[in-house]
Amino acid sequence: MSKVIVTGGCGYIGSHTCIALLSQGYEVVVFDDLSNASKESIDRIEKITEKRPELYRVDLKDKNAAIAAFETHKDAMAVIHFAAYKAVKESVEQPLQYYENNLFSLINTLIALQKFGINNFIFSSSATVYGIPKTCPVTEKSPVSTAFSPYGNTKKIAEEILEDCTHSNAEFSIISLRYFNPIGAHKSGKIGELPNGIPNNLMPYITQTAAGIREQLMVFGNDYPTKDGTAIRDYIHVMDLAEAHVVAVDRLIHQKQENNFEIYNLGTGIGYSVLEVIKAFETQNNLALNYKITDRRKGDVPVVFASTELASQTLGWSAKRDLNSMVKSAWNWEKNYRNENS
Ligand code: UDP
Repeated sequence: MSKVIVTGGCGYIGSHTCIALLSQGYEVVVFDDLSNASKESIDRIEKITEKRPELYRVDLKDKNAAIAAFETHKDAMAVIHFAAYKAVKESVEQPLQYYENNLFSLINTLIALQKFGINNFIFSSSATVYGIPKTCPVTEKSPVSTAFSPYGNTKKIAEEILEDCTHSNAEFSIISLRYFNPIGAHKSGKIGELPNGIPNNLMPYITQTAAGIREQLMVFGNDYPTKDGTAIRDYIHVMDLAEAHVVAVDRLIHQKQENNFEIYNLGTGIGYSVLEVIKAFETQNNLALNYKITDRRKGDVPVVFASTELASQTLGWSAKRDLNSMVKSAWNWEKNYRNENS
């Protein structure tokens, strides 16, 4: 059985990826410092897959601890690196924490991988590296632009570090996956997104408003040059995203890659406005959401959606689940979680 190390495997995308890996027969080891996620994720993964990934609690910012952790699992075939802070606004307020956490963790991980000859690496990148795209759909050849936030900059710098590493070490194979907007939850309703505190992202804000935890959803701006004036994003079901990681692992392990540094967009290729997402949520879940239009949020991009051609043609992966499935699964999880904890 091929072993895969998933850093940040207790988090939202990481935990769904563990499920996808386990259901494809991979052995999974989770490295997590539990700073922004709970070890309960491991129980949830086990409930769904009937397999329990080993959890190794480690702060990858600490170089010696990182090396010790990877040494224990140096027989791993690949590493998927999710471990990072991800709140855009917080990164503007605390840039050094973001650079320290996201970049030191990455560098220490890479040092450990080189030391133990683990040569297959998958990185969690983001569509944020494109900034405000001049045209949509955004292809992987679209220019990477100046980051809007320290968070976005850590993704941009990380990709540069990774590319440099593949130049210096021909054995090293890296796939960087640029996520558009992951939402939704596993169909079991036993795991999903669980942000700390007040959510920054649209979908958890919607589900928490529907659950009565937040009073009202603010729609940030209705004066964008779009069909209904609200901003457009490419929302992708988190399980589609998770499955793309399994395809990427498979590509690296079986040495199918054409270059030792490959980049893929992960989106559906379809853009939905904020109001369309709200409407789908209301219709699919048969409820009315309390929302109000307010001013634009600083730094928001008006329209962004992915070109999915490269992922579909080269990786052989494309998203299967639609917006209805995303909004239904997101609500199913939120309801179950609140019931469990009431
Ligand atoms: N959004 C909103 N209200 C919220 C959160 C988000 O109207 O409470 C909008 C936001 O302006 C953007 C879209 O929803 O147009 C997606 O925002 P999110 O923060 O989820 O992702 P990102 O901005 O990173 O694409």
